[in-house]
Amino acid sequence: MDQDEDWDSPNDIQYQPQKQYVPKQQYNKMTAHNPDDLLMDINSQFAGLVIGKGGAIIKGLRKDSGAFISVLDSDTYGLKTVKISGNQKAKEHAQKLISDIIDANDPDKIKQRLLKESEQSAPVQSTFNWDELMKEEAENLKKRLAALPPIIKDFYKEHPEVTAMTDQEVEEFRMSKNNIMIKYIDENNMKPIPKPVLKFSHAFGDYPEILEEIQKQKFETPSPVQCQAWPVIMSGHDLIAIAQTGTGKTLAFLLPAFIHIDFQQTPRSERKGPSILVLAPTRELVLQIESEVKKYSYKGIKAMSIYGGASSGKQKEVLRQGVEIVIATPGRLNDFVGSGAIDLSDVTFLILDEADRMLDLGFEPQIRVSLLRVRPDRQTIMTSATWPPGVKRLAKSYTTNPIQVMVGSLDLTTVNTVKQDILIMDEEEKESWLDDFLKSCSADDKIIIFVNRKVTVDQLSSDLCMKGLIVESIHGGREQSDREMALESLRNGEVNILIATDVASRGIDINDITVVINYDFTKDIEEYVHRVGRTGRAGKTGLAITLMTRKDWGKAKELVEVMEKSGQDVPPELQEMASRFEAKKERDRAEGGDRPFRGGRGGGRGFSRGDGGFSGNRRNNY
Ligand code: AMP
Repeated sequence: MDQDEDWDSPNDIQYQPQKQYVPKQQYNKMTAHNPDDLLMDINSQFAGLVIGKGGAIIKGLRKDSGAFISVLDSDTYGLKTVKISGNQKAKEHAQKLISDIIDANDPDKIKQRLLKESEQSAPVQSTFNWDELMKEEAENLKKRLAALPPIIKDFYKEHPEVTAMTDQEVEEFRMSKNNIMIKYIDENNMKPIPKPVLKFSHAFGDYPEILEEIQKQKFETPSPVQCQAWPVIMSGHDLIAIAQTGTGKTLAFLLPAFIHIDFQQTPRSERKGPSILVLAPTRELVLQIESEVKKYSYKGIKAMSIYGGASSGKQKEVLRQGVEIVIATPGRLNDFVGSGAIDLSDVTFLILDEADRMLDLGFEPQIRVSLLRVRPDRQTIMTSATWPPGVKRLAKSYTTNPIQVMVGSLDLTTVNTVKQDILIMDEEEKESWLDDFLKSCSADDKIIIFVNRKVTVDQLSSDLCMKGLIVESIHGGREQSDREMALESLRNGEVNILIATDVASRGIDINDITVVINYDFTKDIEEYVHRVGRTGRAGKTGLAITLMTRKDWGKAKELVEVMEKSGQDVPPELQEMASRFEAKKERDRAEGGDRPFRGGRGGGRGFSRGDGGFSGNRRNNY
């Protein structure tokens, strides 16, 4: 069996396969008036094509399909609804005909076709008038925005102590705060960038209620990302924060969001839906953000989360009662948008949290569709742990002239406070090592054991239970309520040991974890950083122990880099492992050209003992 087969995958996500323009569930959107009608949302730019001059096309469509078709008047941020009535067959036929018309005229589809056809050297002529379309779109947008109240984004007054800082002082301060790097994404933009704040009162001096809430949390000083994000966001800029969970990024966008809600012209009671929308990749993260929001109270602002795997009826009920902040996974949000359960037209502040992760999980189509309903002149904040091309593209589509704040390249601020130990051993030795280790732990320890597969979580849990230990476990295959209960038990100290897969690792926001054990090595180095960052939080130190076997040798080099950057002593065995792997790669290249190399997993003629490798028992002492 391929080892990857039952690696835990984020199956808590309401994944939807890629759709064309609007998701299928929107096609089937039901109305209260006539539940048999089929409602199909189309981009407004295509409405004219469906109607045709003097209604010629729509008449033809009615005749061909036998269905009654009408394009409804209302336009919600670029979408119009086509209502199709009649018998099922006729409705489906009409839907297909309309999809074909749109397909034939969709600029993206045309571009793809032209590209394909030009590759085949077939001369093609596009009849589509691009300039005309762009002009029309720009006009439509102008009209739509003119009818809406302007968004108030700037409520920042620089504190005199911040103003007094010289450029050099600003530079030095940024360096001292984990080397904050900040710039406009558009490097030609020469406008000034807000200086960082040094204290909470620099950012929120004019908002005593916010300062009080911060004081209640007993935070001493703003985290690096907060120092720079607050002045940027509060003065109205779009922001891209390259930061991970554990860096204080949630509060970086949350506190300005509270003020933003309060500042808008439309009274809160008259808004048709939330003002703040946070999109996050997994339900754990959604719940974590929600619980973070709920730690603060500001002018009665309410927040709720929308995610798959829990009753949507309950979520809709809370939504109906009125909330200002919605935190959602893209899949479930898309369902809500499609069924008309949520109105996003009053969203003026949007957060795309962990954008890289959302892309990895294939959420781009859902994000695109839902965001068609959000005002394009909103303020947008995006966070991401990494900055790959996909995230850059998303940033280009959804932010306007953004400022980027980066705290270290691979943000290691979270792991600097963690002692990282690496033990190299055979797979069969792991179990008895774990037994010994757990016996040596004290009752005050809180331990997370990370593994890669759901089945390992279950096996290890029952093994440890048989040995009389009380453990909890969490993986993507467990019910949401069980996962929440498991986390709660660890948080409140009912259990001291949690066994988890990576799917769950991002959502774990427990400040007093003392030890992280990587029982299996992570799939990639970013995940290693995330796991390790579950300990050593909120100013405490932590210990992370990673068990490596020879099959993990392909990841040794990156691990060495991370350890060096976070000030750890690299064990010579690991260094040696990395060098051997690199040498082997070189040899393979020389011998066989560019054979794809499967570093780490059952890797070919890999690192056997006969290869001069390590003896089975190289471990550090504890
Ligand atoms: P986040 O990066 O948003 O996941 O935050 C991780 C944890 O850090 C949360 O429990 C926050 O409450 C906490 N936190 C946020 N800002 C600060 C701060 N300035 N000082 C200490 N802890 C903070």
